[in-house]
Amino acid sequence: MYAEVLVEYPVKSLNKAFTYSVPDSFKDIIKIGMKVLVPFNKRNINGIILKLHHNKPVYKTLSIKDILNKDFYLNDEQIKIAYYLSEITLCPLISAFQTMLPPALKVNKNEKYDLYETYVYLNDKDIVNKYIKEHPRALKQIMMINTIKDKKVLKTSLNASIANILIKKNILLTLKKKKYRLKAKDITTSKLKLNDEQKIAYETVKENLNKHDIYLLKGVTGSGKTEVYMHLISEVIKSNKTALVLVPEICLTTQMIDRFYSRFGKDVAIFHSALSIGEKYDEYLKIYNDKIKIVVGTRSSLFVPLKNLGIIIIDEEHSDNYKQENTPRYDAINIATFRAKYNNIPLLLASASPSLEAMARADKKVYKLLTLENRVNNIKLPKITLVDMTKEIRLKNYLFSSILKEKMIKCISKGEQIILLLNRRGFATFISCKNCGYTYKCPYCDISLTYHKPENQLKCHYCGYFIKKNDLCPSCHEKALVFDGVGTQKVEEELLKVLPSAKVIRMDQDTTSKKNSYQKIIDDFENKKYNILLGTQMISKGLDFKNVTLVGIINADTSLNIPDFRANEKTFNLLYQTSGRSGRGDKEGEVIIQTYNPDNKILNYVKNNDYNNFYLYEMNIRHKLKYPPYTYLVLINIKGKDLENIEKESNIIKKYLQRYLDEKTIILGPTPSYMFKVKNIYNLQIIIKYTYDDKLIDILKQLDQNYLINNKISIDITFNPVKF
Ligand code: ADP
Ligand code: ZN
Repeated sequence: MYAEVLVEYPVKSLNKAFTYSVPDSFKDIIKIGMKVLVPFNKRNINGIILKLHHNKPVYKTLSIKDILNKDFYLNDEQIKIAYYLSEITLCPLISAFQTMLPPALKVNKNEKYDLYETYVYLNDKDIVNKYIKEHPRALKQIMMINTIKDKKVLKTSLNASIANILIKKNILLTLKKKKYRLKAKDITTSKLKLNDEQKIAYETVKENLNKHDIYLLKGVTGSGKTEVYMHLISEVIKSNKTALVLVPEICLTTQMIDRFYSRFGKDVAIFHSALSIGEKYDEYLKIYNDKIKIVVGTRSSLFVPLKNLGIIIIDEEHSDNYKQENTPRYDAINIATFRAKYNNIPLLLASASPSLEAMARADKKVYKLLTLENRVNNIKLPKITLVDMTKEIRLKNYLFSSILKEKMIKCISKGEQIILLLNRRGFATFISCKNCGYTYKCPYCDISLTYHKPENQLKCHYCGYFIKKNDLCPSCHEKALVFDGVGTQKVEEELLKVLPSAKVIRMDQDTTSKKNSYQKIIDDFENKKYNILLGTQMISKGLDFKNVTLVGIINADTSLNIPDFRANEKTFNLLYQTSGRSGRGDKEGEVIIQTYNPDNKILNYVKNNDYNNFYLYEMNIRHKLKYPPYTYLVLINIKGKDLENIEKESNIIKKYLQRYLDEKTIILGPTPSYMFKVKNIYNLQIIIKYTYDDKLIDILKQLDQNYLINNKISIDITFNPVKF
C-alpha cells in the first residue's frame, strides 16, 4: 500500500504530495487525514495523508515512520475545505491544513494536553467490611469509607494521605476520567415566545432546513435576532443535527456564550483565539467525539469537525473580523458557504447593517432577505443627536460637548449607565483641520490622502495622486492642520476632570490583553459597578446592557477619514451599531454623536436610523467609481528591503498584468501601501479592479510562482481585501 503525503513544509515551491510506502503494521489502521511522520531530506518531518492506493510508483519509495495520533484524523469535509481554501487564497495546501488544526494538534504528541481527574470508589463490600473489622481503631479511615459509600468521589476532595493508604490497601479503587477545562453552566432559561416578525423569519428558514440557501436576516439592533437563531438551533438539534454559530469578536462572544450556555447547557462548545491551547484542545476533542451539538465561536471555529451540520449562522455578518489578514487570507463567509453547500443546509447571515455586498446580493435575490423592522417589546430605537464640534471648540470643549456633559450628568444621577465610543484611527497618518474638519481627499478615488513626512506630501495610496501639504488649511485658512488621534487613556483623564465622581471602566487593547479581562469588564459593568464604559471599536457590537440609556460618540469623523473606499460604510456600521447599544431595556435611549461635519450625509443617515437610504447613496458612489459590489478587487503587495528594486519590479508586474489581463480590467498603482515602511521593509501595492476576467486566477497563480524563489522581493496576493 502507498500513501500520498503532504509534508509540513509551508513553502509554496513544495506544494505537492510525495509518495511513501505504508508498512504492513499500519495497513489496518492508517486512514486518509491522519498525521504521520515521514523521512524527508534526511530528516523526519510531519505530514498529512491525502490518498491511499496500490499503484506502485516507478521510483523507489521511502516508508512512513510512524502514525502521530491514532485516534485523530481529518475527515473528508475538512480535507475538501483545505483544498478549497488553498484554491481561493493561493496558499500552500499545507498552510490550509495548518489553519484548520488547533495548536495542540499540530505538534507531534498531544497526550500532554489531556487532563484527567481521579475518582475513587469502594471495593467489594466483603473486602471492605473485613478490613474494617481488622482495623477497628483506624477511625479516620472508617469515617472516609462511610462517607464514600456507593458513590464515586473526586479524589482531590478527600484527605490525600488517608485516601492513599486506602488505595494502597486496595480498599479504594481509582478511576481516571478526562477532565474538560471549560464547564457549561446548568440550563436555566427557556425559550421566549417569538413575536410576529421573528416568527416569519424563523418559519421561513425552518421550512427549508434540508436544502442549501443563503439568508440575509436584516434586523435592527435589539430586534431579537439571537432569539431567532436559538429557535432554529433547537429545531436542528431535534433532528439530531448540529449547529455552528460565528460571532466576530471574543468580547462579543462572552455575552453570546452566556446566552447559549444558559439555553443549551452542555450541548455547547466554544472556540476562539483567547482560549488557552489546552482549552482549545479540549473543546476540539468534545466536538471531534460528538459530545456537543452547538459550537459558538470566532472565525477559526469554521474549521471544526462538527459532523452532521444542520445550520450555519454568522452573526454581525458585515464585520471585518470575518476576514483573515494573514496567510491564508480567507473570508469566513466563503468558507461557510462552502460548508453549507457541502452539507446541503442553510447559511444564515445576520446584521443590523449588512455589508453592501450582502445587501446587493439580497437585492438580486441571490440571498433570501428576512427582515425585523422593530425592536422587541415595542422598545423604541434611540433618539440620535448630531453635535457640531466646530462650535464647541470655540468654548474650549475639545473632547466633550456641553450637551454630552449635561446628558452624562443626568444619566448618572438617575442610576443609568453610559457607553462612550472613541473612534480610533488605524495606522495611517492622515491630517485634518481642527478648526473646520477639512481633510485632504483624492479627486479620483475619493479616499483620504496619507501623509508622507520625508517629502511633506499627501499621497493617494490607490492611484498615486499626490500634493504638497500646506501650512494653512485649504478650506478655512486657519493654521489648524493636525494629525488626528487621542488615546482612550487621555479621554479617561479628561472625563474624570469633567465628571470627577463618575466611575469609568476602559475597554481597549491595553485593558483586555489579559485572559478573561473582557468577561470581567462586562460582568462588572452589567453589575453596575461603573457608570461609564469607555472603549474603542470593540464596544460597538453585540453588547446588550439593559441599563444603558446614553451612548456618546466622541469623534464620529475619524473613520470617515480612513484612506479606504469603504470609509463611509465602516463609519455607518460603527455608529449605527454603537447607537444600538442605547435604550435596550424599558427606558428609552439617547445617542450623542460629536462631529466636525454635521452636514455629512452618512452621519445624517445614522441619525435617522436609515440604513436603506444609506445603502442607496453609497451604492451610487460605488457604481460611479467602479468599486465593489460593482467590481471585485485584488490587492497585490510587493515588499522588499531595497526600495528602488521593488519599484522596478512592481512596474514589471504591472506591465505583465496589463499585457495578459482582460482589457476592461483596471490596474492601479504601484503606490505606497497603507503601511509603507515597516521594520525597514518597504511595501508597495497594485490594485486590480475587475468585473469578469476568466484569465485572472491563472495569471495571478503564475505571478505568485514567479516570485517563489526570489529572495529579495516577496509578493502577497489578497482577493477582496478589506484593509489596504
Ligand atoms: P439583536 O441580536 O437583534 O440585537 P437580541 O437577540 O440581543 O437582539 O435581543 C434583544 C433583547 O430582547 C434580548 O435581551 C432578548 O432576550 C430579548 N428578546 C428577544 N426576543 C424576544 C421575545 N420574542 N420576547 C421577549 N424578549 C425577547
Ligand atoms: Zn487616487
